[in-house]
Amino acid sequence: MRSDTVWIEAHAKSLGFDLCGVVRAEHFPELGRTEEWLARGYAGEMKYLADPRRREAASVMPGIRSVIVCALNYNTDLPRSTEVPGGSPGDEPRGWISRYAWGADYHQVLHGKLTALADAMRKRLEEPFEARVYADTGPVQERILAKYAGLGWLGKNTLLLNQRLGSWIFLGAILTTLELAPTLEEGTLPPPDLCGSCRRCIEACPTGAFVEPYVMDARRCISYLTIELRGPIPDEFREPVGRNVIGCDICQDVCPWNRRALVTTDEGFRPRTYPFADSKAPEDIAEQVVRASLDGEEPRAASVAAEESLFFPRLEWLLSMDEAEFRQLFRDSAIKRAKWRGLVRNACVAVGNSGLSRETPTHGRILALLGRLSASQDAVVAESALWALSRIQRAGEQSLA
Ligand code: SF4
Ligand code: SF4
Repeated sequence: MRSDTVWIEAHAKSLGFDLCGVVRAEHFPELGRTEEWLARGYAGEMKYLADPRRREAASVMPGIRSVIVCALNYNTDLPRSTEVPGGSPGDEPRGWISRYAWGADYHQVLHGKLTALADAMRKRLEEPFEARVYADTGPVQERILAKYAGLGWLGKNTLLLNQRLGSWIFLGAILTTLELAPTLEEGTLPPPDLCGSCRRCIEACPTGAFVEPYVMDARRCISYLTIELRGPIPDEFREPVGRNVIGCDICQDVCPWNRRALVTTDEGFRPRTYPFADSKAPEDIAEQVVRASLDGEEPRAASVAAEESLFFPRLEWLLSMDEAEFRQLFRDSAIKRAKWRGLVRNACVAVGNSGLSRETPTHGRILALLGRLSASQDAVVAESALWALSRIQRAGEQSLA
């Protein structure tokens, strides 16, 4: 039994996983706290979190005995959201997309690797068994299972942290009827909590989403507000959302364990780039470059960019995207969960927070886009565009005054 666990852990690594551990399908203390968390309303509109199977690993699958938990590092060597400047008058308005969504859709990547692991187990192990694969796709709290499989500890920011990898890890699980030896032998405690007296994540959160260490009110979290919430972003959060358009990395970016986290060698998690979606943009930009050089100015770096990128993307690009383009560009990206309406709604809020001024080269074009969006059939998009227009106008009047 122990040799099977050792083989599974080694094979998972040969498939590209950075961490792998096995845990018995038991009741874990953290799962018992879900009920109270739900009762306090912290799940917001995420009704799927109330699925009672999420509170008991053993109820997810008949005959389940063990869970194999795997982790994949997606940390790239690009700057943190907290290191990227912007917001000065005249800057091209840009939005932040959370690091996990820059590259390949992690659901697909994890699912493929976990299925390959389950298939390899079927070939190697003589005993017949059932196995189900979950990659943030079922009623499984992977991070809690990961803690008891020895992969790390649950930090004050509620995420799984590993000493070598920090929190930039995707988690997936194979639930199985196999009786496997757990990675942490009987009587061994899970990895210790190394947060110590640190409170950086709690203090840095712009929306005050941590009601106390280790407890998050998801309704206040920018990830929820920009991805899960389908209606308008509540007024009280619009300004704190800042330039975040898909998720938020702040509580991870400030974490000291992420400062020294290993960088992945998987190119698939680097930010995707796209040719200009708007056929008019290159001409406009070429025109700006010519105009700038005639005026003896240095052309702006953003103006000569050859392509759009998911790393700190131009908000003008996001605002100009229609539903068909959105579906086509993000069909195999985690961004699709936000839907077109969510992305454009968030881009409106971010541009409203951007301090867009007349000095910004794209000022006129962005106002025109917001004008068009304010007449959208989609009430949420229309209202968000009007909000952005009124913010920009107010900022302009204040600067004149
Ligand atoms: S992701 Fe952002 S908004 Fe959410 S808890 Fe972390 S810092 Fe706060
Ligand atoms: S920022 Fe500090 S408290 Fe928060 S998860 Fe990281 S180590 Fe823990």
